[in-house]
Amino acid sequence: MNNNCPNVEKCPIFNGVLKDRKMTTKSYQMQYCSGGEPQYSKCKRYQSKVKFGVCPSDLLPNSLMTLDQIALKYGLK
Ligand code: SF4
Repeated sequence: MNNNCPNVEKCPIFNGVLKDRKMTTKSYQMQYCSGGEPQYSKCKRYQSKVKFGVCPSDLLPNSLMTLDQIALKYGLK
């Protein structure tokens, strides 16, 4: 069974955009991306994509912002 987030193919975080932070990327992948629905559904990038249809490129999975704050900051509403 595939436990990956449905966004892994296009997600820059999953695909190593944080090149100088390999451990951080690995940690995100384990904590969110490949942890099955209960885990990737906690990712703010995943949540933003579900709610707004887009995800800001620099939003981190563990962002402390609420979805409302994300919408305001990135003009998603
Ligand atoms: S869990 Fe988050 S960081 Fe990982 S692939 Fe999905 S949207 Fe990207």
